[in-house]
Amino acid sequence: MSTIFKKIIDKEIPANIVYEDDDFLAFYDIQPQAKVHVIVIPKKEIKNLDEATEEDVLVLGKLQLTIAKIARKLGISKDGYRVITNINENGGQTVFHMHYHILGGEKLPENFK
Ligand code: 5GP
Repeated sequence: MSTIFKKIIDKEIPANIVYEDDDFLAFYDIQPQAKVHVIVIPKKEIKNLDEATEEDVLVLGKLQLTIAKIARKLGISKDGYRVITNINENGGQTVFHMHYHILGGEKLPENFK
């Protein structure tokens, strides 16, 4: 399994990176759905939450804290933001490398998914 996000991790294709450490990478979505729309991914290739295992507990926990850290860095924490992960076809997943959308910078619609 190799996805466009793996290519971004490997710097084979460019992205507007907002955060990177040994385990995670975050970059602006190419088709933003909100004023601030950032994608956060684990560098480990996990297809989605449904494919994650006990082995991934640490990375999943750190991912939650990293999302919060990035939101603070983006300056959207105080006003609030939304975190979304899409899983498989019905969930609308199009890139099969686990990722979380951080959406904020404005009041989001109630029915926004
Ligand atoms: P999904 O629908 O799988 O939850 O979300 C995939 C997201 O990745 C979409 O919002 C899409 O705009 C974004 N995306 C797809 N390809 C690229 C790319 O090459 N660069 C960036 N920055 N975002 C991408």
